[in-house]
Amino acid sequence: MDETIINETITLLQELIRNECVNPPGNELRSIKTIEEFLKKKGVKCEVYESAPNRGNLIAKIKGTKKSPSLMFGPSHVDVVPVEKPDEWIVSPFSGEIKDGYIWGRGAFDMLFIVAAQCQAFAMLHNEKFKPKGDLVLAIVADEEAGGNFGCKWMIDNHPEEMKIENAVSEFGGFEISENKLILPY
Ligand SMILES: [Zn+2]
Repeated sequence: MDETIINETITLLQELIRNECVNPPGNELRSIKTIEEFLKKKGVKCEVYESAPNRGNLIAKIKGTKKSPSLMFGPSHVDVVPVEKPDEWIVSPFSGEIKDGYIWGRGAFDMLFIVAAQCQAFAMLHNEKFKPKGDLVLAIVADEEAGGNFGCKWMIDNHPEEMKIENAVSEFGGFEISENKLILPY
C-alpha cells in the first residue's frame, strides 16, 4: 500500500488518541472535528450531528446505485475508558507515541485504530469513485463506553434514517442487522 496512506492513517490515529475523549465526560466532538477535517481535506462530505455540548456523531455516505442491502463502516466509537492506573503505563496514555513498532495510547486498540482505518478506507473508496450497489455508510459515534445516550442511541432516536442499514462492520467484526434495525452486539 502507498506509504502516504499508511502515514496519514497513523497520524489520524495519533490525533484521535491525543484528543483524550475519556468518557465520562466524553468531549467526543474533538475527535469528530478531527475526522471531519480529515475527510474534508480529501474532498469527502459528511454530516456532524451534535447530541449535546461537546458531543457529536458523524455520518458520511456513498449512495448505492441499486436498491441493494447497505453496509455500514461502524457504528464506531471515538470515546475511550478512563485511565485507572496511570503509573503502570510505560508511555503517557495520551501521547500516541510510537515505541518498538507499536502505536501506544488509551483507546488505540478499542477502537481508534479501526476508526482511523475505516475513515481512510472510506475516503479511498470515495476518491476511487467506487459505486456500491447498496449505500456505503461511515458512522462514527460518541458515548459507546458509557451507555450510548449521546451516541448510537441518540442517532437512532433523532436521525433513524441515517442508521437504517442491513450490514455493519465494527469492533466485533461484521454483522447483519435484523428487521432493518440496528442491533448492537454489545
Ligand atoms: Zn469499543
